[in-house]
Amino acid sequence: MENVRLLGTEKVFLSEASGRVLSEPFFARRDVPPLDNSAMDGFALNSGDTSGASEKSPAALRIVRTIGAGDRAGQPLGNREAVRIMTGAPVPDGADTVIPVEDAVVEDGFLICGSIRKGNHIRLAGEDIRSGEEILPTGRVLRAADVGLVASQGISQVRVRMRAGVAILGTGDEVVSLGENPGEGQIYGSNSHALFCLVRECGGVARHLGIARDDPRDVAEKVEEGLLSDVLITSGGVSMGDFDYLKGVFSELGVNILFQEVAQKPGKPMVFGVRDGKPVFGLPGNPVSATLGFELYVRPALFRMMGHERLFRPLITAVLDEDIRKKPGRRNFLRGVVHRREDGEFHVATTGDQGSGILRSMSRANGIIILPEQSEGGKAGDEVEVYLIDSEDALYGEGEHPEPKAQSPKPKE
Ligand code: AMP
Ligand code: MG
Repeated sequence: MENVRLLGTEKVFLSEASGRVLSEPFFARRDVPPLDNSAMDGFALNSGDTSGASEKSPAALRIVRTIGAGDRAGQPLGNREAVRIMTGAPVPDGADTVIPVEDAVVEDGFLICGSIRKGNHIRLAGEDIRSGEEILPTGRVLRAADVGLVASQGISQVRVRMRAGVAILGTGDEVVSLGENPGEGQIYGSNSHALFCLVRECGGVARHLGIARDDPRDVAEKVEEGLLSDVLITSGGVSMGDFDYLKGVFSELGVNILFQEVAQKPGKPMVFGVRDGKPVFGLPGNPVSATLGFELYVRPALFRMMGHERLFRPLITAVLDEDIRKKPGRRNFLRGVVHRREDGEFHVATTGDQGSGILRSMSRANGIIILPEQSEGGKAGDEVEVYLIDSEDALYGEGEHPEPKAQSPKPKE
């Protein structure tokens, strides 16, 4: 995390602002609402004109005109006068309260009412936003309502952090691109596509560099091209095999390698380096290790570059629903399915076979179970820590509908 730096900033239109990170605080330029206005369709009056009135001897106020939304407030209210007023219309001087039309009694052009309390159904100038106030802080990940706030200020662009440009390179003589015909023993390269999606989900802009052959020259050429992006991610070729050329190529091309192994399972072989301030991630080739490596290392780094304040997935404690054995030594990251029981407690079970080539274990998972280095596993009923990689799914609960009583009809075919 110390080795990644903030990207530059750019201005974007509001149509592109959702999910982007503000790089400067946003200050209000004008009061919202700009004037005192009616919160209801009804009648504006001076509550003083009704004091002492009752159901038996009501006040009668002459209705002098109608003010629609967008009209000017016009003349101040005279003595014992009322106006018809629409929602959003300015309240004239002298009026201090509004009676909703559904509560009003009108006879012969007069509003007939008992004693009315002051201040009802009037929205005061600046009650939502005051000019000069900071309404969105630096680091805010913009959501729909935030975009609405900015628009309420008449502003059509905001300054945000740039998206990280991320080049993605696959490696391996056995790996072919989609659309090619795999020869005997060859496999389709899935990593680049999974990583592409992950980059996108983080708000980055991914770029495919294709698949480098297990040949140092081809690897070097593609790595060099990848280093034109803000970030380079590779998969495979970082292990102990005879044809794992990436580490050598990185060094040759001036990438300062900061680590090349992590005491974890899966994903032990993993290279991280920097060249000219640009992070380079040499993720393992096994599909689970590659996506997990992205989750654990690349995602927080991209988030930091793009100005996020929350870098990590939510970490929860869950009750383990099965026994797990583990050798002490490396930290284990198991793919799990988390659900929330009715009593509010989180429970977690593994997604089955945890081999690092079993990508379905990741596809099924909504959480990553963390077993610390020295742990020897856990028993059913033990508490474990879990990163939620799909918190919405985890919060739904097992077989549970968020509104259990609502029987929504099936959509028509
Ligand atoms: P390596 O570290 O290059 O030896 O790769 C480890 C394992 O991951 C091997 O079984 C590779 O075939 C596999 N692998 C490497 N790249 C990919 C990829 N892009 N998609 C799927 N599997 C891959
Ligand atoms: Mg390989």
